[in-house]
Amino acid sequence: MQNQLLKKDITTLQAGVKTKVAVAKGDGIGPEIMDATLRIMEAAGAQIEVDFIEIGEQQYLAGNTSGISPEAWEAIKTNKVILKAPITTPQGKGYKSLNVTLRKSLGLFANVRPVSALHPYIHTPYPDMDVVIIRENEEDLYAGIEHQQTDDVVQCLKLITRPGCERIIRYAFEYAKAYGRKKVTCMVKDNIMKLTDGLFHRVFKEIAAAYPQIDSNSQIIDIGSARLAARPEQYDVIVTANLYGDIISDIAAEIAGSVGMAGSANVGTEVAMFEAIHGSAPDIAGKKIANPSGLINGAVLMLAHLGQTEVADRIKNALLSTIEAGIHTADIYREGSSTRLVNTSEFAEAVIERLGETPKSLKASKLSEGAGTIQIPDYVRKTRKKQLVGVDVFIDWKGEDPNQIGDALAAIDAFKLKLKMITNRGVKVYPKGLKETYKTDHWRCRFVAMDATTSTSPVYQPVDFEQVVALLSKLHAQGFDVIKTENLYEFDGTRGFSLGQGE
Ligand code: NAD
Repeated sequence: MQNQLLKKDITTLQAGVKTKVAVAKGDGIGPEIMDATLRIMEAAGAQIEVDFIEIGEQQYLAGNTSGISPEAWEAIKTNKVILKAPITTPQGKGYKSLNVTLRKSLGLFANVRPVSALHPYIHTPYPDMDVVIIRENEEDLYAGIEHQQTDDVVQCLKLITRPGCERIIRYAFEYAKAYGRKKVTCMVKDNIMKLTDGLFHRVFKEIAAAYPQIDSNSQIIDIGSARLAARPEQYDVIVTANLYGDIISDIAAEIAGSVGMAGSANVGTEVAMFEAIHGSAPDIAGKKIANPSGLINGAVLMLAHLGQTEVADRIKNALLSTIEAGIHTADIYREGSSTRLVNTSEFAEAVIERLGETPKSLKASKLSEGAGTIQIPDYVRKTRKKQLVGVDVFIDWKGEDPNQIGDALAAIDAFKLKLKMITNRGVKVYPKGLKETYKTDHWRCRFVAMDATTSTSPVYQPVDFEQVVALLSKLHAQGFDVIKTENLYEFDGTRGFSLGQGE
Protein backbone atom coordinates (compact mmCIF):
# COMPACT_ATOMS: atom_id res chain seq x y z
CA MET A 1 0.00 0.00 0.00
CA GLN A 2 2.10 2.89 -1.19
CA ASN A 3 1.24 6.54 -1.24
CA GLN A 4 0.85 6.74 -5.02
CA LEU A 5 -0.38 10.28 -4.82
CA LEU A 6 2.74 11.68 -3.31
CA LYS A 7 5.03 10.04 -5.83
CA LYS A 8 2.92 11.52 -8.61
CA ASP A 9 3.07 14.93 -7.00
CA ILE A 10 6.78 14.89 -6.39
CA THR A 11 7.28 14.11 -10.07
CA THR A 12 4.92 16.87 -11.17
CA LEU A 13 6.53 19.29 -8.73
CA GLN A 14 9.95 18.57 -10.11
CA ALA A 15 8.55 19.23 -13.58
CA GLY A 16 7.04 22.52 -12.31
CA VAL A 17 3.52 21.25 -13.03
CA LYS A 18 0.69 22.31 -10.75
CA THR A 19 -1.26 19.62 -8.85
CA LYS A 20 -4.99 19.79 -9.45
CA VAL A 21 -6.95 19.91 -6.20
CA ALA A 22 -10.73 19.55 -5.73
CA VAL A 23 -11.89 22.55 -3.71
CA ALA A 24 -15.26 22.76 -1.93
CA LYS A 25 -16.22 26.23 -0.72
CA GLY A 26 -18.79 24.78 1.69
CA ASP A 27 -21.63 26.52 3.52
CA GLY A 28 -22.03 29.24 6.15
CA ILE A 29 -18.63 30.83 6.71
CA GLY A 30 -17.11 28.29 4.26
CA PRO A 31 -16.87 30.55 1.18
CA GLU A 32 -15.41 33.43 3.25
CA ILE A 33 -12.63 31.38 4.82
CA MET A 34 -11.95 29.47 1.60
CA ASP A 35 -11.46 32.71 -0.36
CA ALA A 36 -8.98 33.89 2.28
CA THR A 37 -7.11 30.57 2.23
CA LEU A 38 -6.90 30.40 -1.58
CA ARG A 39 -5.57 33.97 -1.75
CA ILE A 40 -2.84 33.15 0.75
CA MET A 41 -1.87 29.96 -1.08
CA GLU A 42 -1.65 31.77 -4.38
CA ALA A 43 0.48 34.55 -2.89
CA ALA A 44 2.77 31.97 -1.26
CA GLY A 45 3.38 30.24 -4.60
CA ALA A 46 1.55 26.97 -3.93
CA GLN A 47 1.80 24.77 -7.02
CA ILE A 48 -1.88 23.88 -7.16
CA GLU A 49 -4.66 24.25 -9.68
CA VAL A 50 -8.13 24.64 -8.21
CA ASP A 51 -11.05 22.51 -9.42
CA PHE A 52 -14.19 23.76 -7.64
CA ILE A 53 -16.76 21.12 -6.67
CA GLU A 54 -20.32 21.40 -5.39
CA ILE A 55 -21.05 19.67 -2.10
CA GLY A 56 -23.11 20.48 0.96
CA GLU A 57 -26.40 22.15 1.76
CA GLN A 58 -27.47 23.05 -1.79
CA GLN A 59 -26.82 19.49 -2.92
CA TYR A 60 -28.78 18.06 0.00
CA LEU A 61 -31.69 20.39 -0.70
CA ALA A 62 -31.54 19.51 -4.42
CA GLY A 63 -32.30 15.91 -3.48
CA ASN A 64 -28.83 14.31 -3.18
CA THR A 65 -29.30 12.75 0.26
CA SER A 66 -25.55 12.29 0.67
CA GLY A 67 -24.86 15.98 -0.10
CA ILE A 68 -22.61 15.46 -3.09
CA SER A 69 -23.25 15.61 -6.84
CA PRO A 70 -22.06 12.87 -9.23
CA GLU A 71 -19.77 15.45 -10.91
CA ALA A 72 -18.12 16.23 -7.57
CA TRP A 73 -17.49 12.50 -7.01
CA GLU A 74 -15.80 12.29 -10.39
CA ALA A 75 -13.62 15.34 -9.66
CA ILE A 76 -12.55 13.88 -6.31
CA LYS A 77 -11.71 10.50 -7.84
CA THR A 78 -9.67 12.18 -10.56
CA ASN A 79 -7.84 14.77 -8.45
CA LYS A 80 -7.37 12.60 -5.33
CA VAL A 81 -6.83 15.64 -3.09
CA ILE A 82 -9.67 17.70 -1.60
CA LEU A 83 -9.53 20.97 0.30
CA LYS A 84 -12.91 21.30 1.93
CA ALA A 85 -14.55 24.16 3.83
CA PRO A 86 -17.17 23.18 6.43
CA ILE A 87 -20.62 22.28 5.24
CA THR A 88 -24.05 22.41 6.86
CA THR A 89 -25.94 19.16 7.23
CA PRO A 90 -29.64 20.08 7.09
CA GLN A 91 -31.69 19.10 10.15
CA GLY A 92 -34.10 16.22 9.75
CA LYS A 93 -34.09 12.57 8.89
CA GLY A 94 -32.81 11.15 5.62
CA TYR A 95 -29.68 13.33 5.24
CA LYS A 96 -26.49 11.34 5.59
CA SER A 97 -23.37 13.00 6.99
CA LEU A 98 -21.21 13.89 4.00
CA ASN A 99 -18.08 13.79 6.13
CA VAL A 100 -18.71 10.19 7.13
CA THR A 101 -19.63 9.27 3.53
CA LEU A 102 -16.41 10.80 2.18
CA ARG A 103 -14.20 9.20 4.82
CA LYS A 104 -15.63 5.74 4.38
CA SER A 105 -16.15 5.69 0.61
CA LEU A 106 -12.68 7.05 -0.10
CA GLY A 107 -10.94 4.91 2.53
CA LEU A 108 -9.61 7.92 4.46
CA PHE A 109 -8.40 5.79 7.34
CA ALA A 110 -6.32 8.32 9.26
CA ASN A 111 -7.60 11.52 10.79
CA VAL A 112 -4.67 13.68 11.78
CA ARG A 113 -5.25 16.70 13.97
CA PRO A 114 -2.28 18.72 15.23
CA VAL A 115 -3.19 21.08 18.06
CA SER A 116 -0.71 23.48 19.62
CA ALA A 117 -0.97 26.39 22.01
CA LEU A 118 -0.09 29.84 20.68
CA HIS A 119 0.59 31.33 24.08
CA PRO A 120 0.52 34.19 25.04
CA TYR A 121 -1.16 35.39 21.85
CA ILE A 122 -4.16 33.08 22.15
CA HIS A 123 -5.40 32.52 25.64
CA THR A 124 -5.01 28.97 26.93
CA PRO A 125 -4.20 27.58 30.35
CA TYR A 126 -1.72 25.22 28.62
CA PRO A 127 1.04 27.31 27.04
CA ASP A 128 3.28 24.32 26.23
CA MET A 129 0.68 22.14 24.56
CA ASP A 130 1.77 20.70 21.20
CA VAL A 131 0.00 17.44 20.45
CA VAL A 132 -1.02 15.53 17.34
CA ILE A 133 -4.02 13.26 17.59
CA ILE A 134 -4.15 10.45 15.05
CA ARG A 135 -7.57 8.89 15.03
CA GLU A 136 -8.68 5.77 13.20
CA ASN A 137 -11.35 7.09 10.89
CA GLU A 138 -13.41 4.24 9.45
CA GLU A 139 -14.09 1.48 11.96
CA ASP A 140 -15.15 1.00 15.55
CA LEU A 141 -18.71 1.96 16.50
CA TYR A 142 -18.79 4.22 13.42
CA ALA A 143 -19.27 1.16 11.19
CA GLY A 144 -22.90 2.10 11.83
CA ILE A 145 -24.18 -1.48 12.17
CA GLU A 146 -27.09 -1.14 14.57
CA HIS A 147 -30.12 -3.30 15.26
CA GLN A 148 -33.12 -3.19 17.55
CA GLN A 149 -33.33 -6.75 18.84
CA THR A 150 -36.05 -6.75 21.49
CA ASP A 151 -38.46 -4.20 22.98
CA ASP A 152 -35.78 -3.30 25.51
CA VAL A 153 -32.51 -3.63 23.64
CA VAL A 154 -30.72 -2.03 20.70
CA GLN A 155 -27.22 -2.96 19.67
CA CYS A 156 -24.34 -1.22 17.87
CA LEU A 157 -21.51 -3.42 16.64
CA LYS A 158 -18.00 -2.30 17.46
CA LEU A 159 -15.73 -3.56 14.69
CA ILE A 160 -11.98 -3.38 15.15
CA THR A 161 -9.90 -5.05 12.46
CA ARG A 162 -6.25 -6.07 12.36
CA PRO A 163 -5.60 -4.31 9.02
CA GLY A 164 -7.33 -1.20 10.40
CA CYS A 165 -5.18 -1.26 13.57
CA GLU A 166 -1.97 -1.99 11.69
CA ARG A 167 -2.29 0.86 9.24
CA ILE A 168 -3.40 3.56 11.70
CA ILE A 169 -0.74 2.61 14.24
CA ARG A 170 1.97 2.33 11.64
CA TYR A 171 0.80 5.66 10.22
CA ALA A 172 1.19 7.22 13.70
CA PHE A 173 4.77 5.99 14.05
CA GLU A 174 5.66 6.97 10.49
CA TYR A 175 4.12 10.39 11.12
CA ALA A 176 6.21 10.75 14.30
CA LYS A 177 9.32 9.83 12.32
CA ALA A 178 8.59 12.17 9.39
CA TYR A 179 7.64 15.13 11.61
CA GLY A 180 10.39 14.72 14.21
CA ARG A 181 8.07 13.73 17.04
CA LYS A 182 9.50 11.84 20.01
CA LYS A 183 6.70 9.80 21.56
CA VAL A 184 3.52 7.94 20.54
CA THR A 185 0.86 7.20 23.15
CA CYS A 186 -1.86 4.60 22.54
CA MET A 187 -5.23 5.15 24.24
CA VAL A 188 -7.82 2.36 24.47
CA LYS A 189 -10.06 0.63 27.01
CA ASP A 190 -8.69 -2.89 26.83
CA ASN A 191 -9.22 -3.57 30.52
CA ILE A 192 -12.91 -3.89 29.58
CA MET A 193 -12.97 -4.63 25.83
CA LYS A 194 -10.28 -7.26 25.86
CA LEU A 195 -10.80 -8.52 22.34
CA THR A 196 -11.51 -5.33 20.35
CA ASP A 197 -9.46 -2.72 22.20
CA GLY A 198 -7.14 -5.55 23.21
CA LEU A 199 -6.31 -6.10 19.52
CA PHE A 200 -5.58 -2.37 19.04
CA HIS A 201 -3.24 -2.40 22.04
CA ARG A 202 -1.54 -5.63 21.00
CA VAL A 203 -0.89 -4.34 17.48
CA PHE A 204 0.41 -1.09 19.02
CA LYS A 205 2.97 -3.03 21.06
CA GLU A 206 4.00 -5.10 18.02
CA ILE A 207 4.49 -2.04 15.81
CA ALA A 208 6.11 0.11 18.53
CA ALA A 209 8.86 -2.51 18.77
CA ALA A 210 9.81 -1.73 15.17
CA TYR A 211 10.43 1.96 16.05
CA PRO A 212 12.94 1.84 18.93
CA GLN A 213 13.97 5.47 18.28
CA ILE A 214 10.45 6.65 19.20
CA ASP A 215 9.19 6.38 22.79
CA SER A 216 5.87 4.64 23.20
CA ASN A 217 3.42 4.12 26.02
CA SER A 218 -0.23 3.16 26.53
CA GLN A 219 -2.96 4.59 28.69
CA ILE A 220 -6.53 3.60 29.39
CA ILE A 221 -8.67 6.13 27.54
CA ASP A 222 -10.52 7.48 30.58
CA ILE A 223 -7.44 8.46 32.57
CA GLY A 224 -5.70 9.37 29.32
CA SER A 225 -8.40 11.90 28.39
CA ALA A 226 -8.41 13.30 31.91
CA ARG A 227 -4.64 13.80 31.79
CA LEU A 228 -4.81 15.24 28.28
CA ALA A 229 -7.30 17.81 29.56
CA ALA A 230 -5.19 18.58 32.65
CA ARG A 231 -1.59 18.23 31.40
CA PRO A 232 -1.65 18.26 27.59
CA GLU A 233 2.03 19.25 27.42
CA GLN A 234 2.90 15.67 28.46
CA TYR A 235 1.65 14.31 25.13
CA ASP A 236 3.30 14.30 21.74
CA VAL A 237 1.47 11.98 19.27
CA ILE A 238 -1.63 10.10 20.41
CA VAL A 239 -3.07 7.22 18.39
CA THR A 240 -6.50 5.87 19.20
CA ALA A 241 -9.68 4.28 17.89
CA ASN A 242 -12.45 6.21 16.15
CA LEU A 243 -14.85 7.17 18.94
CA TYR A 244 -12.17 7.95 21.52
CA GLY A 245 -10.27 9.99 18.92
CA ASP A 246 -13.39 11.93 18.02
CA ILE A 247 -13.84 12.95 21.64
CA ILE A 248 -10.25 13.66 22.63
CA SER A 249 -9.44 15.62 19.48
CA ASP A 250 -12.27 18.04 20.31
CA ILE A 251 -11.06 18.30 23.91
CA ALA A 252 -7.56 19.09 22.65
CA ALA A 253 -8.77 21.77 20.20
CA GLU A 254 -10.98 23.38 22.83
CA ILE A 255 -8.32 23.64 25.55
CA ALA A 256 -5.79 25.05 23.07
CA GLY A 257 -7.89 28.20 22.90
CA SER A 258 -10.21 28.34 19.88
CA VAL A 259 -12.06 25.88 17.63
CA GLY A 260 -11.37 28.38 14.86
CA MET A 261 -7.65 27.54 14.82
CA ALA A 262 -7.15 23.83 14.16
CA GLY A 263 -6.95 22.07 10.79
CA SER A 264 -7.14 18.38 10.08
CA ALA A 265 -6.15 15.85 7.45
CA ASN A 266 -8.13 12.76 6.47
CA VAL A 267 -5.66 10.52 4.73
CA GLY A 268 -6.21 7.38 2.70
CA THR A 269 -3.94 5.34 0.49
CA GLU A 270 -5.28 6.98 -2.69
CA VAL A 271 -7.14 10.12 -1.66
CA ALA A 272 -6.64 12.72 1.07
CA MET A 273 -8.98 15.43 2.32
CA PHE A 274 -7.98 18.55 4.27
CA GLU A 275 -10.23 20.83 6.27
CA ALA A 276 -10.73 22.99 9.35
CA ILE A 277 -12.09 21.13 12.36
CA HIS A 278 -14.92 23.57 13.03
CA GLY A 279 -18.34 23.65 11.39
CA SER A 280 -20.04 26.18 9.12
CA ALA A 281 -20.75 28.59 12.03
CA PRO A 282 -24.18 29.72 10.76
CA ASP A 283 -24.37 32.26 13.63
CA ILE A 284 -21.65 34.40 12.04
CA ALA A 285 -22.05 33.43 8.37
CA GLY A 286 -22.10 36.39 5.98
CA LYS A 287 -20.64 38.77 8.56
CA LYS A 288 -17.13 38.26 7.14
CA ILE A 289 -15.65 38.07 10.63
CA ALA A 290 -14.75 34.33 10.75
CA ASN A 291 -11.25 33.22 11.60
CA PRO A 292 -9.76 31.47 8.53
CA SER A 293 -6.84 29.97 10.52
CA GLY A 294 -8.38 26.47 10.80
CA LEU A 295 -8.72 26.15 7.04
CA ILE A 296 -5.32 27.76 6.48
CA ASN A 297 -3.85 25.10 8.79
CA GLY A 298 -5.76 22.47 6.77
CA ALA A 299 -4.16 23.89 3.60
CA VAL A 300 -0.71 23.74 5.24
CA LEU A 301 -1.26 20.04 5.98
CA MET A 302 -2.33 19.55 2.35
CA LEU A 303 0.78 21.23 0.99
CA ALA A 304 3.00 19.10 3.26
CA HIS A 305 1.17 16.02 1.99
CA LEU A 306 1.80 17.13 -1.59
CA GLY A 307 5.51 17.46 -0.85
CA GLN A 308 5.36 21.28 -1.08
CA THR A 309 6.93 21.61 2.36
CA GLU A 310 8.64 24.92 1.66
CA VAL A 311 5.37 26.66 0.76
CA ALA A 312 3.67 24.95 3.70
CA ASP A 313 6.33 26.38 6.06
CA ARG A 314 6.09 29.83 4.46
CA ILE A 315 2.33 29.99 5.04
CA LYS A 316 2.49 28.53 8.54
CA ASN A 317 5.21 30.93 9.62
CA ALA A 318 3.35 33.93 8.16
CA LEU A 319 0.21 32.79 10.00
CA LEU A 320 2.15 32.50 13.28
CA SER A 321 3.75 35.91 12.70
CA THR A 322 0.31 37.46 12.16
CA ILE A 323 -1.01 35.95 15.39
CA GLU A 324 2.16 37.10 17.18
CA ALA A 325 1.67 40.65 15.87
CA GLY A 326 -1.66 40.67 17.72
CA ILE A 327 -3.70 40.89 14.51
CA HIS A 328 -6.72 38.86 15.53
CA THR A 329 -10.24 37.99 14.38
CA ALA A 330 -13.07 38.46 16.88
CA ASP A 331 -12.99 34.88 18.24
CA ILE A 332 -9.40 35.24 19.50
CA TYR A 333 -9.28 39.03 20.04
CA ARG A 334 -8.54 40.06 23.63
CA GLU A 335 -8.35 43.59 24.95
CA GLY A 336 -4.78 44.17 26.16
CA SER A 337 -2.98 41.37 24.31
CA SER A 338 -4.39 41.85 20.78
CA THR A 339 -3.32 44.92 18.80
CA ARG A 340 -5.82 45.00 15.93
CA LEU A 341 -9.28 43.52 15.43
CA VAL A 342 -9.61 42.38 11.82
CA ASN A 343 -12.19 40.74 9.61
CA THR A 344 -11.56 37.61 7.53
CA SER A 345 -10.08 39.28 4.47
CA GLU A 346 -7.99 41.76 6.49
CA PHE A 347 -6.56 38.77 8.36
CA ALA A 348 -5.68 37.13 5.02
CA GLU A 349 -4.00 40.37 3.88
CA ALA A 350 -1.94 40.45 7.09
CA VAL A 351 -0.81 36.86 6.50
CA ILE A 352 0.12 37.65 2.88
CA GLU A 353 2.14 40.69 4.01
CA ARG A 354 4.12 38.42 6.34
CA LEU A 355 4.97 35.69 3.84
CA GLY A 356 8.71 35.15 4.18
CA GLU A 357 8.80 36.14 7.88
CA THR A 358 9.43 33.71 10.72
CA PRO A 359 7.74 34.12 14.09
CA LYS A 360 9.85 35.77 16.80
CA SER A 361 8.79 33.85 19.88
CA LEU A 362 6.41 31.13 18.66
CA LYS A 363 8.12 28.01 17.37
CA ALA A 364 8.70 28.36 13.62
CA SER A 365 7.55 25.60 11.30
CA LYS A 366 10.36 23.74 9.56
CA LEU A 367 9.11 20.66 7.80
CA SER A 368 11.70 18.26 6.51
CA GLU A 369 11.69 17.40 2.82
CA GLY A 370 9.96 14.08 3.33
CA ALA A 371 7.35 15.32 5.80
CA GLY A 372 4.43 14.25 3.66
CA THR A 373 5.95 10.97 2.58
CA ILE A 374 4.14 8.45 4.70
CA GLN A 375 4.12 4.99 3.21
CA ILE A 376 2.31 2.09 4.73
CA PRO A 377 3.16 -1.46 3.65
CA ASP A 378 0.45 -3.75 2.34
CA TYR A 379 -1.39 -5.78 4.95
CA VAL A 380 -0.43 -9.43 5.01
CA ARG A 381 -3.10 -11.64 6.54
CA LYS A 382 -1.92 -14.50 8.74
CA THR A 383 -4.43 -17.33 8.56
CA ARG A 384 -4.88 -19.31 11.71
CA LYS A 385 -6.67 -22.56 12.46
CA LYS A 386 -10.25 -21.65 13.26
CA GLN A 387 -12.30 -24.15 15.24
CA LEU A 388 -15.98 -23.86 16.14
CA VAL A 389 -16.47 -24.71 19.83
CA GLY A 390 -19.98 -23.48 20.58
CA VAL A 391 -22.59 -20.83 20.00
CA ASP A 392 -24.13 -17.89 21.83
CA VAL A 393 -27.86 -17.84 21.15
CA PHE A 394 -29.63 -14.55 21.91
CA ILE A 395 -33.25 -15.01 22.89
CA ASP A 396 -36.07 -12.48 23.32
CA TRP A 397 -37.87 -13.70 26.44
CA LYS A 398 -40.29 -11.63 28.53
CA GLY A 399 -40.07 -13.72 31.71
CA GLU A 400 -38.24 -12.56 34.83
CA ASP A 401 -36.86 -15.62 36.55
CA PRO A 402 -33.65 -16.77 34.83
CA ASN A 403 -34.06 -20.24 36.40
CA GLN A 404 -37.22 -20.73 34.38
CA ILE A 405 -35.57 -20.17 30.96
CA GLY A 406 -32.29 -21.67 32.21
CA ASP A 407 -33.83 -24.97 33.32
CA ALA A 408 -35.80 -25.23 30.08
CA LEU A 409 -32.71 -24.63 27.95
CA ALA A 410 -30.52 -26.90 30.10
CA ALA A 411 -32.87 -29.78 29.27
CA ILE A 412 -32.06 -29.41 25.58
CA ASP A 413 -29.07 -31.02 23.96
CA ALA A 414 -28.33 -31.10 20.29
CA PHE A 415 -25.66 -33.73 19.70
CA LYS A 416 -22.89 -32.48 22.02
CA LEU A 417 -24.13 -28.90 22.57
CA LYS A 418 -25.39 -28.06 26.02
CA LEU A 419 -26.22 -24.85 27.91
CA LYS A 420 -23.24 -23.48 29.86
CA MET A 421 -24.61 -20.21 31.13
CA ILE A 422 -27.01 -17.34 30.49
CA THR A 423 -26.11 -13.68 30.79
CA ASN A 424 -28.29 -10.60 30.71
CA ARG A 425 -26.49 -7.44 29.55
CA GLY A 426 -23.24 -9.41 29.93
CA VAL A 427 -23.78 -10.46 33.59
CA LYS A 428 -24.24 -14.12 34.41
CA VAL A 429 -27.76 -14.81 35.66
CA TYR A 430 -27.84 -18.60 35.24
CA PRO A 431 -26.79 -20.85 36.85
CA LYS A 432 -26.54 -19.23 40.27
CA GLY A 433 -27.18 -15.62 39.39
CA LEU A 434 -27.92 -12.91 41.93
CA LYS A 435 -31.51 -11.86 42.33
CA GLU A 436 -30.37 -8.22 42.53
CA THR A 437 -29.08 -8.24 38.90
CA TYR A 438 -31.36 -6.17 36.68
CA LYS A 439 -32.79 -8.16 33.78
CA THR A 440 -34.07 -7.09 30.38
CA ASP A 441 -35.82 -9.19 27.70
CA HIS A 442 -32.44 -9.96 26.02
CA TRP A 443 -30.89 -13.26 27.11
CA ARG A 444 -27.53 -14.47 25.83
CA CYS A 445 -27.45 -18.25 26.17
CA ARG A 446 -24.08 -19.94 25.72
CA PHE A 447 -24.01 -23.48 24.36
CA VAL A 448 -20.76 -25.42 24.22
CA ALA A 449 -19.78 -29.09 23.95
CA MET A 450 -20.86 -30.98 27.04
CA ASP A 451 -17.41 -31.52 28.58
CA ALA A 452 -16.90 -27.75 28.76
CA THR A 453 -20.16 -26.98 30.61
CA THR A 454 -19.08 -28.02 34.06
CA SER A 455 -15.41 -27.18 34.37
CA THR A 456 -14.43 -23.71 35.61
CA SER A 457 -11.56 -23.47 33.13
CA PRO A 458 -13.02 -25.51 30.30
CA VAL A 459 -11.14 -27.19 27.54
CA TYR A 460 -13.50 -26.53 24.65
CA GLN A 461 -14.34 -29.42 22.36
CA PRO A 462 -14.79 -28.99 18.62
CA VAL A 463 -18.36 -28.90 17.36
CA ASP A 464 -19.89 -28.85 13.86
CA PHE A 465 -22.11 -26.19 12.41
CA GLU A 466 -24.71 -28.94 11.86
CA GLN A 467 -24.99 -29.22 15.62
CA VAL A 468 -25.65 -25.48 15.85
CA VAL A 469 -28.37 -25.78 13.21
CA ALA A 470 -29.91 -28.71 15.09
CA LEU A 471 -29.87 -26.70 18.31
CA LEU A 472 -31.54 -23.70 16.67
CA SER A 473 -34.13 -25.96 15.14
CA LYS A 474 -34.94 -27.45 18.57
CA LEU A 475 -35.15 -24.02 20.15
CA HIS A 476 -37.49 -22.83 17.41
CA ALA A 477 -39.64 -25.95 17.75
CA GLN A 478 -39.97 -25.28 21.49
CA GLY A 479 -41.17 -21.72 20.86
CA PHE A 480 -38.03 -19.76 21.81
CA ASP A 481 -37.68 -16.43 19.96
CA VAL A 482 -34.09 -16.60 18.71
CA ILE A 483 -33.00 -13.10 17.67
CA LYS A 484 -29.42 -13.78 16.72
CA THR A 485 -26.47 -16.10 17.17
CA GLU A 486 -22.72 -15.63 17.50
CA ASN A 487 -20.49 -18.58 16.77
CA LEU A 488 -17.78 -19.27 19.33
CA TYR A 489 -14.39 -19.98 17.79
CA GLU A 490 -10.89 -20.77 18.88
CA PHE A 491 -8.05 -19.48 16.69
CA ASP A 492 -4.94 -21.65 16.92
CA GLY A 493 -6.36 -22.91 20.21
CA THR A 494 -6.87 -19.44 21.70
CA ARG A 495 -10.38 -18.48 22.82
CA GLY A 496 -11.86 -15.94 20.40
CA PHE A 497 -14.73 -14.78 22.60
CA SER A 498 -15.05 -13.05 25.94
CA LEU A 499 -16.33 -14.71 29.08
CA GLY A 500 -19.53 -13.47 30.70
CA GLN A 501 -19.08 -11.44 33.90
CA GLY A 502 -19.16 -14.09 36.59
CA GLU A 503 -18.75 -16.99 34.15
P1 NAD B 1 -19.46 25.26 14.56
O1 NAD B 1 -18.06 24.79 14.68
O2 NAD B 1 -19.93 25.65 13.22
O3 NAD B 1 -19.66 26.52 15.54
C1 NAD B 1 -19.45 26.46 16.96
C2 NAD B 1 -19.13 27.87 17.49
O4 NAD B 1 -17.80 28.22 17.09
C3 NAD B 1 -20.03 28.95 16.91
O5 NAD B 1 -20.27 29.91 17.91
C4 NAD B 1 -19.21 29.56 15.79
O6 NAD B 1 -19.52 30.90 15.53
C5 NAD B 1 -17.79 29.42 16.32
N1 NAD B 1 -16.83 29.23 15.22
C6 NAD B 1 -16.64 28.12 14.49
N2 NAD B 1 -15.72 28.32 13.56
C7 NAD B 1 -15.29 29.59 13.69
C8 NAD B 1 -14.36 30.40 13.00
N3 NAD B 1 -13.64 29.90 11.98
N4 NAD B 1 -14.20 31.67 13.40
C9 NAD B 1 -14.89 32.16 14.42
N5 NAD B 1 -15.80 31.46 15.13
C10 NAD B 1 -16.00 30.19 14.76
O7 NAD B 1 -20.40 24.12 15.16
P2 NAD B 1 -22.00 23.95 15.09
O8 NAD B 1 -22.65 25.28 15.30
O9 NAD B 1 -22.29 22.85 16.03
O10 NAD B 1 -22.29 23.42 13.64
C11 NAD B 1 -22.79 24.23 12.58
C12 NAD B 1 -22.96 23.40 11.32
O11 NAD B 1 -21.68 22.91 10.90
C13 NAD B 1 -23.84 22.16 11.47
O12 NAD B 1 -24.67 22.01 10.34
C14 NAD B 1 -22.86 21.01 11.53
O13 NAD B 1 -23.43 19.81 11.04
C15 NAD B 1 -21.78 21.53 10.61
N6 NAD B 1 -20.44 20.94 10.87
C16 NAD B 1 -19.68 20.69 9.76
C17 NAD B 1 -18.39 20.21 9.91
C18 NAD B 1 -17.59 19.92 8.68
O14 NAD B 1 -18.04 20.18 7.58
N7 NAD B 1 -16.38 19.40 8.81
C19 NAD B 1 -17.85 19.99 11.19
C20 NAD B 1 -18.63 20.29 12.31
C21 NAD B 1 -19.93 20.78 12.13
